[in-house]
Amino acid sequence: MYAISPFTIFHPTSDGSLFVKNLFTGAVVLLTDETKSALDVWLAAQDALNVPEGVADLVEQGILVNAVEDQYAVWRTAMLTARNDEAHIFTLHFEPTLQCQLACSYCLENGIERGRSMEEEILARSLAWFEEYCGMNPSVDTLRFKLFGGEPLLCKKIIARAVPAYRALCERLGIEFSLEMTTNGVLFDEDIARLLSEHIWNRVQITLDGPADIHDTRRIGKGGKPTFERILNNVRMFLAGEYLPAVDIRMTLDAGTAEHLPRLVDVLASLGDPSRVRLSLGITTPTFASPFGRMDDNELADVALATWAYAQSLGFEIPDEFVAGPVCVATAKHSAALQPDGSLQKCFCTSGRSEFDFAHVGMRPLGYTQDQRFEQWKRTDQCVSEQCPYLPVCGGGCVYEAMVEHGADQGAGRRMCRKTLLDRMNRGLLALSYE
Ligand code: SF4
Ligand code: SF4
Repeated sequence: MYAISPFTIFHPTSDGSLFVKNLFTGAVVLLTDETKSALDVWLAAQDALNVPEGVADLVEQGILVNAVEDQYAVWRTAMLTARNDEAHIFTLHFEPTLQCQLACSYCLENGIERGRSMEEEILARSLAWFEEYCGMNPSVDTLRFKLFGGEPLLCKKIIARAVPAYRALCERLGIEFSLEMTTNGVLFDEDIARLLSEHIWNRVQITLDGPADIHDTRRIGKGGKPTFERILNNVRMFLAGEYLPAVDIRMTLDAGTAEHLPRLVDVLASLGDPSRVRLSLGITTPTFASPFGRMDDNELADVALATWAYAQSLGFEIPDEFVAGPVCVATAKHSAALQPDGSLQKCFCTSGRSEFDFAHVGMRPLGYTQDQRFEQWKRTDQCVSEQCPYLPVCGGGCVYEAMVEHGADQGAGRRMCRKTLLDRMNRGLLALSYE
Protein backbone atom coordinates (compact mmCIF):
# COMPACT_ATOMS: atom_id res chain seq x y z
CA MET A 1 0.00 0.00 0.00
CA TYR A 2 1.29 3.43 -0.96
CA ALA A 3 0.52 6.92 0.29
CA ILE A 4 1.77 10.34 -0.66
CA SER A 5 4.79 11.20 1.50
CA PRO A 6 3.92 13.70 4.26
CA PHE A 7 6.96 15.69 3.15
CA THR A 8 5.38 16.51 -0.21
CA ILE A 9 4.09 19.92 -1.25
CA PHE A 10 1.94 20.72 -4.28
CA HIS A 11 2.01 24.07 -6.04
CA PRO A 12 -0.13 25.03 -9.06
CA THR A 13 1.62 26.24 -12.22
CA SER A 14 0.23 29.07 -14.33
CA ASP A 15 -1.20 26.57 -16.88
CA GLY A 16 -3.14 24.51 -14.30
CA SER A 17 -0.62 21.68 -13.79
CA LEU A 18 1.00 20.95 -10.45
CA PHE A 19 4.57 21.10 -9.23
CA VAL A 20 5.12 18.29 -6.77
CA LYS A 21 8.16 18.55 -4.52
CA ASN A 22 9.36 16.11 -1.90
CA LEU A 23 11.28 17.99 0.77
CA PHE A 24 12.99 14.85 2.10
CA THR A 25 14.46 13.62 -1.19
CA GLY A 26 14.45 16.97 -3.04
CA ALA A 27 12.65 15.40 -6.04
CA VAL A 28 10.51 17.75 -8.16
CA VAL A 29 8.00 16.51 -10.75
CA LEU A 30 5.31 18.14 -12.83
CA LEU A 31 1.88 16.47 -12.89
CA THR A 32 -1.02 17.48 -15.10
CA ASP A 33 -4.35 17.90 -13.41
CA GLU A 34 -5.60 14.68 -15.04
CA THR A 35 -2.57 12.66 -13.92
CA LYS A 36 -3.02 13.87 -10.36
CA SER A 37 -6.76 12.99 -10.41
CA ALA A 38 -5.99 9.51 -11.81
CA LEU A 39 -3.35 9.03 -9.12
CA ASP A 40 -5.81 10.04 -6.36
CA VAL A 41 -8.41 7.60 -7.68
CA TRP A 42 -5.86 4.79 -7.84
CA LEU A 43 -4.48 5.54 -4.35
CA ALA A 44 -7.99 5.20 -2.89
CA ALA A 45 -8.36 1.59 -4.17
CA GLN A 46 -4.76 0.56 -5.11
CA ASP A 47 -5.79 -1.96 -7.77
CA ALA A 48 -2.57 -3.90 -8.46
CA LEU A 49 -3.73 -4.79 -11.98
CA ASN A 50 -4.32 -1.21 -13.07
CA VAL A 51 -1.33 0.75 -11.83
CA PRO A 52 -1.17 4.15 -13.58
CA GLU A 53 1.92 5.02 -15.56
CA GLY A 54 4.47 6.91 -13.50
CA VAL A 55 3.75 5.31 -10.11
CA ALA A 56 7.11 3.49 -10.11
CA ASP A 57 8.90 6.80 -10.73
CA LEU A 58 7.00 8.51 -7.91
CA VAL A 59 8.01 5.69 -5.56
CA GLU A 60 11.64 6.00 -6.61
CA GLN A 61 11.52 9.76 -6.00
CA GLY A 62 10.09 9.28 -2.52
CA ILE A 63 6.84 11.06 -3.40
CA LEU A 64 4.90 7.81 -2.90
CA VAL A 65 5.91 5.88 0.22
CA ASN A 66 4.93 2.81 2.20
CA ALA A 67 1.56 3.75 3.73
CA VAL A 68 2.04 1.79 6.94
CA GLU A 69 5.53 3.07 7.73
CA ASP A 70 5.83 6.10 10.06
CA GLN A 71 7.58 8.54 7.72
CA TYR A 72 8.44 10.92 10.56
CA ALA A 73 10.26 8.10 12.36
CA VAL A 74 12.04 7.23 9.09
CA TRP A 75 13.13 10.86 8.72
CA ARG A 76 14.29 11.18 12.33
CA THR A 77 16.35 7.97 12.13
CA ALA A 78 17.94 9.09 8.86
CA MET A 79 18.70 12.57 10.23
CA LEU A 80 20.23 11.27 13.47
CA THR A 81 22.22 8.55 11.68
CA ALA A 82 23.70 11.13 9.32
CA ARG A 83 24.40 13.52 12.21
CA ASN A 84 25.76 11.04 14.75
CA ASP A 85 27.17 8.06 12.89
CA GLU A 86 28.18 9.42 9.50
CA ALA A 87 29.65 12.77 10.53
CA HIS A 88 33.12 13.15 9.05
CA ILE A 89 33.55 16.92 8.58
CA PHE A 90 34.86 19.26 11.29
CA THR A 91 33.78 22.87 10.73
CA LEU A 92 35.99 25.34 12.60
CA HIS A 93 35.00 29.00 12.72
CA PHE A 94 38.39 30.54 13.46
CA GLU A 95 37.79 33.93 15.10
CA PRO A 96 41.10 35.77 15.54
CA THR A 97 39.28 38.80 16.94
CA LEU A 98 35.81 39.90 17.94
CA GLN A 99 36.69 43.50 17.21
CA CYS A 100 35.42 45.23 14.11
CA GLN A 101 36.11 48.61 12.54
CA LEU A 102 32.45 49.01 11.53
CA ALA A 103 29.54 49.88 13.81
CA CYS A 104 26.45 48.14 12.37
CA SER A 105 23.43 48.59 14.63
CA TYR A 106 22.09 45.06 14.01
CA CYS A 107 25.36 43.17 14.60
CA LEU A 108 24.95 39.85 16.45
CA GLU A 109 27.99 40.71 18.52
CA ASN A 110 26.77 44.07 19.82
CA GLY A 111 26.64 44.17 23.61
CA ILE A 112 29.58 41.80 24.14
CA GLU A 113 32.99 42.55 25.62
CA ARG A 114 35.05 42.35 22.43
CA GLY A 115 38.28 41.83 24.38
CA ARG A 116 41.72 41.17 22.96
CA SER A 117 42.68 39.56 19.69
CA MET A 118 44.12 36.04 19.51
CA GLU A 119 47.70 35.54 20.57
CA GLU A 120 50.25 33.06 19.21
CA GLU A 121 49.94 30.87 22.27
CA ILE A 122 46.21 30.29 21.69
CA LEU A 123 46.85 29.47 18.03
CA ALA A 124 49.50 26.90 19.07
CA ARG A 125 47.17 25.38 21.68
CA SER A 126 44.31 25.21 19.20
CA LEU A 127 46.49 23.26 16.77
CA ALA A 128 47.43 20.79 19.50
CA TRP A 129 43.78 20.54 20.59
CA PHE A 130 42.63 19.82 17.03
CA GLU A 131 45.31 17.17 16.55
CA GLU A 132 44.22 15.43 19.75
CA TYR A 133 40.55 15.74 18.75
CA CYS A 134 41.22 14.04 15.42
CA GLY A 135 43.05 11.26 17.25
CA MET A 136 39.98 10.69 19.42
CA ASN A 137 37.56 11.00 16.49
CA PRO A 138 39.12 9.08 13.60
CA SER A 139 35.97 9.49 11.52
CA VAL A 140 36.93 13.17 10.94
CA ASP A 141 38.49 13.23 7.47
CA THR A 142 37.87 16.88 6.47
CA LEU A 143 38.45 20.29 8.07
CA ARG A 144 36.45 23.25 6.87
CA PHE A 145 38.45 26.18 8.18
CA LYS A 146 36.37 29.37 8.20
CA LEU A 147 37.90 32.74 8.98
CA PHE A 148 35.31 34.70 10.90
CA GLY A 149 35.13 37.43 13.53
CA GLY A 150 34.55 40.27 14.44
CA GLU A 151 36.42 41.29 11.33
CA PRO A 152 39.14 38.70 10.69
CA LEU A 153 41.16 40.99 8.43
CA LEU A 154 42.03 43.16 11.44
CA CYS A 155 44.37 40.26 12.29
CA LYS A 156 46.21 39.59 9.04
CA LYS A 157 49.38 38.53 10.89
CA ILE A 158 47.75 35.70 12.82
CA ILE A 159 45.77 34.65 9.73
CA ALA A 160 49.04 34.43 7.81
CA ARG A 161 50.34 32.03 10.45
CA ALA A 162 47.14 30.10 11.20
CA VAL A 163 46.10 29.18 7.66
CA PRO A 164 49.37 27.48 6.58
CA ALA A 165 49.72 25.89 10.05
CA TYR A 166 46.27 24.29 9.98
CA ARG A 167 46.76 23.18 6.40
CA ALA A 168 50.13 21.59 7.22
CA LEU A 169 48.61 19.84 10.26
CA CYS A 170 45.79 18.45 8.11
CA GLU A 171 48.28 17.20 5.54
CA ARG A 172 50.26 15.46 8.29
CA LEU A 173 47.06 13.88 9.68
CA GLY A 174 45.81 12.86 6.23
CA ILE A 175 42.77 15.15 6.54
CA GLU A 176 41.33 17.21 3.71
CA PHE A 177 41.55 20.98 4.25
CA SER A 178 39.54 23.81 2.73
CA LEU A 179 39.38 27.51 3.53
CA GLU A 180 36.58 30.08 3.59
CA MET A 181 36.35 33.66 4.84
CA THR A 182 33.54 35.94 5.96
CA THR A 183 34.64 39.57 5.92
CA ASN A 184 33.10 43.02 5.68
CA GLY A 185 35.44 43.50 2.70
CA VAL A 186 36.90 46.85 3.73
CA LEU A 187 40.44 45.63 4.46
CA PHE A 188 40.61 43.10 1.66
CA ASP A 189 43.75 43.49 -0.47
CA GLU A 190 45.84 41.66 -3.09
CA ASP A 191 48.35 40.41 -0.51
CA ILE A 192 45.75 38.61 1.57
CA ALA A 193 43.94 37.32 -1.53
CA ARG A 194 47.22 35.91 -2.85
CA LEU A 195 48.04 34.30 0.49
CA LEU A 196 44.63 32.65 0.90
CA SER A 197 44.52 31.48 -2.71
CA GLU A 198 47.61 29.34 -1.99
CA HIS A 199 45.64 27.32 0.58
CA ILE A 200 42.64 25.62 -1.04
CA TRP A 201 40.51 28.71 -0.64
CA ASN A 202 37.05 28.13 -1.98
CA ARG A 203 34.80 30.88 -0.69
CA VAL A 204 34.71 34.50 0.42
CA GLN A 205 31.54 36.14 1.66
CA ILE A 206 31.05 39.91 1.83
CA THR A 207 27.90 41.64 3.07
CA LEU A 208 26.32 44.67 1.42
CA ASP A 209 23.34 46.50 2.90
CA GLY A 210 21.88 47.84 -0.33
CA PRO A 211 23.27 50.33 -2.87
CA ALA A 212 25.74 53.01 -1.73
CA ASP A 213 23.17 55.55 -0.47
CA ILE A 214 21.64 52.93 1.88
CA HIS A 215 24.72 50.85 2.71
CA ASP A 216 26.64 53.97 3.73
CA THR A 217 24.05 54.90 6.34
CA ARG A 218 24.31 51.44 7.97
CA ARG A 219 27.67 49.71 7.44
CA ILE A 220 29.76 52.66 8.45
CA GLY A 221 33.19 53.05 9.96
CA LYS A 222 33.39 54.21 13.55
CA GLY A 223 33.63 57.89 12.53
CA GLY A 224 30.64 57.54 10.20
CA LYS A 225 32.97 56.87 7.24
CA PRO A 226 31.28 55.40 4.12
CA THR A 227 32.48 51.95 3.05
CA PHE A 228 30.50 50.96 -0.06
CA GLU A 229 32.89 52.22 -2.76
CA ARG A 230 35.91 50.81 -1.01
CA ILE A 231 34.30 47.37 -0.67
CA LEU A 232 33.12 47.40 -4.27
CA ASN A 233 36.61 48.32 -5.49
CA ASN A 234 37.99 45.42 -3.47
CA VAL A 235 35.44 43.08 -5.09
CA ARG A 236 36.55 44.37 -8.52
CA MET A 237 40.19 43.75 -7.59
CA PHE A 238 39.32 40.29 -6.38
CA LEU A 239 37.42 39.38 -9.56
CA ALA A 240 40.18 40.77 -11.81
CA GLY A 241 42.80 38.74 -9.92
CA GLU A 242 41.07 35.40 -10.54
CA TYR A 243 41.76 34.35 -6.96
CA LEU A 244 38.50 32.39 -6.82
CA PRO A 245 35.95 31.49 -9.48
CA ALA A 246 33.34 33.71 -7.76
CA VAL A 247 32.71 36.06 -4.86
CA ASP A 248 29.72 35.53 -2.57
CA ILE A 249 27.72 38.68 -1.84
CA ARG A 250 25.26 38.51 1.01
CA MET A 251 22.56 41.13 0.59
CA THR A 252 21.06 42.15 3.92
CA LEU A 253 17.27 41.95 3.93
CA ASP A 254 15.27 43.90 6.50
CA ALA A 255 12.84 46.81 6.59
CA GLY A 256 15.68 49.28 5.94
CA THR A 257 16.99 47.60 2.77
CA ALA A 258 13.92 45.82 1.32
CA GLU A 259 12.88 48.35 -1.32
CA HIS A 260 16.48 49.08 -2.37
CA LEU A 261 17.67 45.55 -3.18
CA PRO A 262 16.94 45.71 -6.94
CA ARG A 263 19.26 48.74 -7.17
CA LEU A 264 21.97 46.75 -5.40
CA VAL A 265 21.44 43.90 -7.88
CA ASP A 266 21.90 46.45 -10.71
CA VAL A 267 25.23 47.56 -9.21
CA LEU A 268 26.39 43.94 -8.90
CA ALA A 269 25.33 43.23 -12.49
CA SER A 270 27.55 46.13 -13.60
CA LEU A 271 30.58 44.21 -12.28
CA GLY A 272 30.40 41.96 -15.35
CA ASP A 273 29.88 38.20 -15.65
CA PRO A 274 26.99 37.35 -13.25
CA SER A 275 28.26 33.76 -12.90
CA ARG A 276 31.22 35.20 -10.94
CA VAL A 277 29.01 36.82 -8.30
CA ARG A 278 27.01 34.40 -6.14
CA LEU A 279 24.15 36.12 -4.37
CA SER A 280 22.48 35.25 -1.09
CA LEU A 281 20.00 37.07 1.12
CA GLY A 282 20.80 37.55 4.80
CA ILE A 283 17.67 38.17 6.82
CA THR A 284 18.41 40.40 9.82
CA THR A 285 17.29 38.56 12.94
CA PRO A 286 16.72 39.70 16.51
CA THR A 287 19.83 39.32 18.69
CA PHE A 288 20.54 39.08 22.42
CA ALA A 289 21.47 42.79 22.34
CA SER A 290 18.40 43.79 20.34
CA PRO A 291 15.75 41.06 20.72
CA PHE A 292 12.84 42.98 19.16
CA GLY A 293 11.33 43.59 15.80
CA ARG A 294 11.55 41.85 12.47
CA MET A 295 9.60 42.09 9.23
CA ASP A 296 6.46 40.04 8.88
CA ASP A 297 7.30 36.65 7.30
CA ASN A 298 4.87 37.08 4.38
CA GLU A 299 6.39 40.44 3.56
CA LEU A 300 9.93 39.06 3.89
CA ALA A 301 9.13 36.22 1.48
CA ASP A 302 7.58 38.60 -1.05
CA VAL A 303 10.58 40.93 -1.03
CA ALA A 304 13.00 37.99 -1.24
CA LEU A 305 11.14 36.42 -4.16
CA ALA A 306 10.90 39.74 -6.03
CA THR A 307 14.65 40.21 -5.53
CA TRP A 308 15.39 36.70 -6.78
CA ALA A 309 13.13 37.17 -9.81
CA TYR A 310 14.95 40.39 -10.70
CA ALA A 311 18.40 38.86 -10.14
CA GLN A 312 17.43 35.88 -12.30
CA SER A 313 16.32 38.22 -15.11
CA LEU A 314 19.84 39.75 -15.08
CA GLY A 315 21.51 36.34 -15.35
CA PHE A 316 22.37 35.62 -11.70
CA GLU A 317 21.96 32.11 -10.36
CA ILE A 318 19.22 31.86 -7.74
CA PRO A 319 18.52 29.15 -5.13
CA ASP A 320 15.82 26.56 -5.80
CA GLU A 321 15.11 25.95 -2.11
CA PHE A 322 15.00 27.87 1.17
CA VAL A 323 16.11 25.87 4.21
CA ALA A 324 16.34 26.49 7.95
CA GLY A 325 17.95 23.17 8.93
CA PRO A 326 17.64 20.38 9.88
CA VAL A 327 21.32 20.39 10.97
CA CYS A 328 23.45 23.55 10.93
CA VAL A 329 27.10 24.08 11.89
CA ALA A 330 26.10 24.56 15.53
CA THR A 331 24.09 21.35 15.76
CA ALA A 332 26.59 19.31 13.72
CA LYS A 333 28.54 16.70 15.67
CA HIS A 334 32.02 18.01 14.89
CA SER A 335 32.14 21.80 14.95
CA ALA A 336 33.33 24.73 17.01
CA ALA A 337 33.66 28.49 16.91
CA LEU A 338 37.13 29.20 18.32
CA GLN A 339 37.09 32.46 20.29
CA PRO A 340 40.19 34.70 20.44
CA ASP A 341 40.81 33.62 24.06
CA GLY A 342 40.75 29.92 23.13
CA SER A 343 37.21 29.18 24.33
CA LEU A 344 35.08 26.97 22.12
CA GLN A 345 31.41 27.51 21.32
CA LYS A 346 29.00 25.72 18.99
CA CYS A 347 27.29 28.68 17.27
CA PHE A 348 29.27 31.60 15.84
CA CYS A 349 26.32 33.88 16.71
CA THR A 350 26.97 33.53 20.45
CA SER A 351 30.60 34.68 20.08
CA GLY A 352 31.85 36.77 22.99
CA ARG A 353 29.21 35.46 25.43
CA SER A 354 31.11 33.24 27.82
CA GLU A 355 27.94 31.47 29.01
CA PHE A 356 28.07 29.63 25.68
CA ASP A 357 31.63 28.30 26.10
CA PHE A 358 31.55 24.50 26.20
CA ALA A 359 35.31 23.87 26.26
CA HIS A 360 38.70 25.52 25.87
CA VAL A 361 41.66 24.60 23.70
CA GLY A 362 43.80 24.51 26.85
CA MET A 363 41.82 21.46 28.03
CA ARG A 364 41.94 17.95 26.61
CA PRO A 365 39.03 17.31 24.24
CA LEU A 366 36.39 15.07 25.81
CA GLY A 367 34.68 12.87 23.25
CA TYR A 368 33.19 15.12 20.57
CA THR A 369 32.33 18.83 20.53
CA GLN A 370 29.19 18.48 22.59
CA ASP A 371 26.96 21.20 24.01
CA GLN A 372 23.60 19.77 25.10
CA ARG A 373 21.84 23.03 24.22
CA PHE A 374 22.41 22.30 20.55
CA GLU A 375 21.27 18.66 20.72
CA GLN A 376 17.62 19.07 21.75
CA TRP A 377 16.10 16.79 19.15
CA LYS A 378 12.80 16.58 21.02
CA ARG A 379 12.12 20.17 19.99
CA THR A 380 10.64 18.71 16.78
CA ASP A 381 8.01 16.59 18.58
CA GLN A 382 5.38 19.29 18.12
CA CYS A 383 6.30 19.62 14.42
CA VAL A 384 5.68 15.86 14.03
CA SER A 385 2.34 16.02 15.81
CA GLU A 386 1.35 18.86 13.47
CA GLN A 387 2.58 16.75 10.49
CA CYS A 388 4.70 19.55 9.10
CA PRO A 389 6.02 18.79 5.59
CA TYR A 390 8.98 21.14 6.11
CA LEU A 391 10.73 19.06 8.80
CA PRO A 392 13.49 17.80 6.45
CA VAL A 393 14.47 21.38 5.52
CA CYS A 394 13.85 22.91 8.95
CA GLY A 395 14.27 20.48 11.85
CA GLY A 396 12.68 22.90 14.31
CA GLY A 397 14.57 25.96 13.06
CA CYS A 398 17.50 27.95 14.40
CA VAL A 399 18.48 27.22 18.03
CA TYR A 400 20.12 30.64 18.42
CA GLU A 401 16.96 32.46 17.34
CA ALA A 402 14.89 30.29 19.70
CA MET A 403 17.21 31.25 22.57
CA VAL A 404 16.91 34.95 21.68
CA GLU A 405 13.13 34.61 21.56
CA HIS A 406 12.57 32.44 24.65
CA GLY A 407 15.68 33.07 26.74
CA ALA A 408 19.04 31.27 26.75
CA ASP A 409 17.90 28.73 29.38
CA GLN A 410 14.51 27.74 28.02
CA GLY A 411 14.94 28.58 24.36
CA ALA A 412 17.32 25.79 23.30
CA GLY A 413 14.63 23.17 23.86
CA ARG A 414 11.99 25.13 21.97
CA ARG A 415 11.47 25.15 18.24
CA MET A 416 11.79 28.36 16.20
CA CYS A 417 8.93 28.05 13.76
CA ARG A 418 9.15 30.11 10.54
CA LYS A 419 6.67 27.94 8.65
CA THR A 420 4.99 30.86 6.90
CA LEU A 421 8.34 32.00 5.56
CA LEU A 422 9.43 28.47 4.59
CA ASP A 423 6.16 27.76 2.81
CA ARG A 424 5.92 31.00 0.88
CA MET A 425 9.60 31.00 -0.06
CA ASN A 426 9.73 27.40 -1.20
CA ARG A 427 6.59 27.68 -3.31
CA GLY A 428 7.87 30.89 -4.88
CA LEU A 429 11.30 29.40 -5.60
CA LEU A 430 9.67 26.32 -7.17
CA ALA A 431 7.82 28.57 -9.59
CA LEU A 432 10.89 30.74 -10.31
CA SER A 433 13.22 27.79 -10.79
CA TYR A 434 11.07 25.40 -12.78
CA GLU A 435 8.22 27.28 -14.50
S1 SF4 B 1 22.04 27.84 15.66
FE1 SF4 B 1 21.13 29.24 14.15
S2 SF4 B 1 22.57 30.96 13.97
FE2 SF4 B 1 23.66 29.24 14.98
S3 SF4 B 1 24.67 28.19 13.27
FE3 SF4 B 1 22.68 27.18 13.64
S4 SF4 B 1 21.27 28.17 12.21
FE4 SF4 B 1 23.08 29.49 12.38
S1 SF4 C 1 9.56 24.55 13.30
FE1 SF4 C 1 7.70 24.97 12.12
S2 SF4 C 1 8.33 24.91 9.96
FE2 SF4 C 1 9.96 23.97 11.17
S3 SF4 C 1 9.50 21.78 11.08
FE3 SF4 C 1 8.55 22.60 12.96
S4 SF4 C 1 6.44 23.11 12.36
FE4 SF4 C 1 7.64 22.88 10.50
